Amino acid sequence: MSQDSSVSSLSMVKCQCGIATRIFTAFTPTNAGRRFYKCSKPNGYKCDYWKWVDDPLHSRVANLIHNFP
Ligand SMILES: [Zn+2]
Repeated sequence: MSQDSSVSSLSMVKCQCGIATRIFTAFTPTNAGRRFYKCSKPNGYKCDYWKWVDDPLHSRVANLIHNFP
């Protein structure tokens, strides 16, 4: 087994197939730990859709820090 990603859960985001994508975590050196949506179909059937997960919590925390006196 050689995988560069791990499956965590189904997301609310849909791919080009119109079905729910899965959230994967990247393990590449440049994007380690970064999560992305990808088609949940098996290899050979999946579409090319993928998208980084923009963590809303992260931007909220950044905003809080920015507004801190
Ligand atoms: Zn798809």
